[in-house]
Amino acid sequence: MAVAINAPSRTKPTILDLGRSELEREVVDSFGQSRYRAKQIWQAVHRECIDDFDAITTLPKALRNELSERYVVDPLEKVLHLTSRDGSTDKALFRLPDGELIETVLMRYKSDSHRKARKTVCVSTQAGCALGCTFCATGQQGFRRQLSVGEIVAQIIFMQRIGLAEDRAEVEDGRRDLGSVQGVTNVVFMGMGEPLANYDNTMAAIRSINDANGLAVGARHITLSTVGLAPQIIQLAGENIQINLAVSLHAPDDETRSETMPINRRYPLSVLLDACRRYVESTDRRIFFEYVLLKGQNDTISHARKLGNLLSGMLCHVNLIPVNPTSDGPYERTSRDDAELFQVELRRFGVPSTVRIEKGIDIDAGCGQLRARVM
Ligand code: SAH
Ligand code: SF4
Repeated sequence: MAVAINAPSRTKPTILDLGRSELEREVVDSFGQSRYRAKQIWQAVHRECIDDFDAITTLPKALRNELSERYVVDPLEKVLHLTSRDGSTDKALFRLPDGELIETVLMRYKSDSHRKARKTVCVSTQAGCALGCTFCATGQQGFRRQLSVGEIVAQIIFMQRIGLAEDRAEVEDGRRDLGSVQGVTNVVFMGMGEPLANYDNTMAAIRSINDANGLAVGARHITLSTVGLAPQIIQLAGENIQINLAVSLHAPDDETRSETMPINRRYPLSVLLDACRRYVESTDRRIFFEYVLLKGQNDTISHARKLGNLLSGMLCHVNLIPVNPTSDGPYERTSRDDAELFQVELRRFGVPSTVRIEKGIDIDAGCGQLRARVM
């Protein structure tokens, strides 16, 4: 498996690059301090989301100074921060220390009959993406570089500061119990880049955000979306973690899929679905298939029938997503009615699906769209 780790060159690294045990080793071996200090530092930056060592007042001043000499907490410089008109979605554009730009989104969902209210962060794992899907704004911009562990984790911490402040304001207004202050509840790896092409850093970031003394985002509330890198899907099946896997399918046959997703030539549907079946078998977890509806391209009843045939009998769920048209892309959005007809056809094959609710259209919340507009 090819995993490239080219961390950016910067004078001081972010302490968020370190996992819990790496931080412990660093604090004990390099700083000559106790493991208890490591725990205090971890909780301060990962749970309380403090972004300045000097503000960690539980630490001795000398240690705070030493930490500041060697590390920064936050590697992200905020360039833009937008909130959608309905207040449900925030999007931030960040500049990394070497000048690269990445995007992060926070989506707030109210409770309904099926699910509790939640705050979901959509994170980027790479600056740009090498895979060139034709409907994707990130794919149209090409690959820049891998994100480090800390650059991934910092995106969630940024949104956690907002989420916690909102929850606490609701406690003050009497709209929320103190015990339910949680901030971010869910994380989806669906921002810029292909997480399984930055495998080690993505996995390390997942372990950090899942840590009970940190952000404590439950594994079942984390979803990783992949374009369909078959070998890495099999590798993920062996990790023994309870996260959700989403696979971007977007077409029911090789010809249609290769037209919009160049990766299909390397891992055609037979290879991809074989990996997916192995994943389901060894984890006993359902796979979510993402299906972006592109008008006239992959959204007819005949496509739905082929998809139904392909997935029938598999432990899976299909998310139907009307495309978020990109500025120079050729695709139009499928109507709600046609999306529902597609769904009815899938149901005939016993394949469950949901038509995804869109958020943040007015703030370019789609993957890579804000960066594209700013550039
Ligand atoms: N690289 C990974 C994860 C990032 S993209 C992947 O491809 O799965 C996250 C999801 O957004 C994918 O399902 C992707 O196909 C979808 N997507 C990309 N561009 C889109 C657009 N313009 N409209 C709707 N969904 C889009
Ligand atoms: Fe890359 Fe995913 Fe966009 Fe395809 S959809 S270009 S894999 S980010």
